[in-house]
Amino acid sequence: MSTGSASASEEVETIPSSTIRVFRTVESVRRWRHPHLFRHKSVALVPTMGALHEGHLSLIRAAARKNDHVVVSIFVNPAQFGEDEDLHTYPVTWGADAAALARLDAELAEDHRNCGRISAVFKPSPEVMYPEGYPGQAVTSKGSFVTITPLGELLEGERRPTFFRGVATVCMKLFNIVQPDRVYFGQKDVQQTVLIRRLVRDFMLPIEVVVRPTIRAPDGLALSSRNVYLGTRRRQVANMLYRGLKASLHAYRAGARDREAVLQAAHDFFDRGQELQLQRPANERVSFEVDYISLADPDTMEEVEEVDPFKGAILSGALYFFPVDLPQEGEDLGASGGPLVRLIDNIILRPDVFDRVIVGSKQE
Ligand code: AMP
Repeated sequence: MSTGSASASEEVETIPSSTIRVFRTVESVRRWRHPHLFRHKSVALVPTMGALHEGHLSLIRAAARKNDHVVVSIFVNPAQFGEDEDLHTYPVTWGADAAALARLDAELAEDHRNCGRISAVFKPSPEVMYPEGYPGQAVTSKGSFVTITPLGELLEGERRPTFFRGVATVCMKLFNIVQPDRVYFGQKDVQQTVLIRRLVRDFMLPIEVVVRPTIRAPDGLALSSRNVYLGTRRRQVANMLYRGLKASLHAYRAGARDREAVLQAAHDFFDRGQELQLQRPANERVSFEVDYISLADPDTMEEVEEVDPFKGAILSGALYFFPVDLPQEGEDLGASGGPLVRLIDNIILRPDVFDRVIVGSKQE
């Protein structure tokens, strides 16, 4: 990292070949943030866990379009990982992340439609984020937590009981540190977006929540930092989840409204996919299993029996991809030896009313 002097008494770390400041303490962010309040300059926050990909970069682009300053946080938040999850192998790629941010910032500077650029990265340590000591990952851990129930206990929260407690807590901390006018989240983690909107509303935070579309690989797989665990064999069929959800979307578009009819299309697709895999030789086969497929209310994430024509619904799902059978000599199994991978994805089923009002709108 290069350093330049901000004042006689203070050195400011920046990402090489850029003007992006790197803040590691709460005080340094606050010192930078304070004058922008008086200058009425808008500040956006894009919270991430690093291992940046095009999905993250799309959020930063959207933030730069509308805000004078963009702050990107990079923090692998231990409190949102379960005790048996991948905290210790989660990809950490700071060098590549810094280079991607420097490149993107140069791109943003070229486009006059942007209000702002990447002003800073906030990259705290766990000690900075948990000054009283990190409370641990157990459900019974004691500490200062933000919990949002029952929303945070459903779906992803049911499978990962500390996940949304960790997310809500760390986002509340980040929002208090950066004091953003707007925060940017990806639809990829749809339940998280519903939870953050609820957090902002229930705690009267003066923040606008902006949700941006899921960025996908050409074959439809939603980009995710965890895709590196898949390896070549599983990667070839990992778009299965999106294709299954799309089967349900087609059923919805064809007029299906009740739960059974909408979800059956996805279940049939996955059943067929499993049969096809079983017909393949073991050294080419991919084993996967449906964790859940959900049709939920867009405000509460409670399961619905029928899609409300005025609200639409959220179709979401999770699949487990098991470690491959009979790995071949030299086969790319994925990062960390190709462990069990759980992928999530979703599609928003727009209200019928929306279809009629916004004619020709591009939908998934
Ligand atoms: P993460 O680093 O995985 O915690 O994600 C940080 C932010 O990026 C969250 O708001 C995610 O929803 C968002 N994000 C992750 N993957 C994608 C994607 N493929 N498209 C759009 N946003 C994404």
